[in-house]
Amino acid sequence: MSAPADRPAADDATAMKLTVIGCSGSFPGPDSPASCYLVEAPFDGRVYRLLVDLGSGALGNLQRLVDLRDIDAIALSHLHADHCFDMSGLYVVSRYHPDGTFPAIPVLSPEGAGPFLGRAYGSDDGDGITDQFDFRDWVDGESVRLGPFTVTSRLVVHPVAAYALRIETPSASIVYSGDTGPAEQLVDLAVGADLFLCEASFVESGTNPPALHLTGAEAGDYATRAGVGRLLVTHIPAWTDRAEVEADVKTTWDGPFELVSAGSTYVV
Ligand SMILES: [Zn+2]
Ligand SMILES: [Zn+2]
Repeated sequence: MSAPADRPAADDATAMKLTVIGCSGSFPGPDSPASCYLVEAPFDGRVYRLLVDLGSGALGNLQRLVDLRDIDAIALSHLHADHCFDMSGLYVVSRYHPDGTFPAIPVLSPEGAGPFLGRAYGSDDGDGITDQFDFRDWVDGESVRLGPFTVTSRLVVHPVAAYALRIETPSASIVYSGDTGPAEQLVDLAVGADLFLCEASFVESGTNPPALHLTGAEAGDYATRAGVGRLLVTHIPAWTDRAEVEADVKTTWDGPFELVSAGSTYVV
């Protein structure tokens, strides 16, 4: 079961809350930053906060919802700008905040994220942001424990190494596609998920390059075959007609779904 709501149900110690910080596909749009999602759950008498992707423009919106010092861990699906370039801004905040430097944050990410994001930040040695970020590589098919969450990564299909993520507590699950072209392993990862946050960057009427992104019809087909509870469609570029994506989804999925917007929250 899942439904939009403001906060986790008080009577469920393992409820998860998903907040869409940014969902604009490929670049920030006029109505949303690029990809960034906040996943929260109770842990150890407090709320644990996992940030999933930190794309262009997301750091601003994020500060409306959380004190950046309260982010416990970051999971980066892949190293395209629209999923990770606001790590540079977070580095500045965490290193130079006038109230004191933040503790280093664990960052689960594709191999090479430290040097790549160091260069993006502008450090000379390409390794200049590891004092604030503790980079750990995803291993395809393996699970890691982050606070209350078990996070399982699967390598999907994209021009760079890109991972879909299954984020679970004992009673709830969210599967995030990241960016991917058609990938059967995404169906496997999503089986039975309460929420399936799946990209649909392309429309069926387009001339779509292979092995890059999904259409709404493909996202709907995956949701149907995986038997998910609810489909959340994301990563729609600002140049794309959202009504066409919605129509594509309906050709393959007859369960609950919506095209997500920045600021939307879901409790599961
Ligand atoms: Zn993207
Ligand atoms: Zn990408």
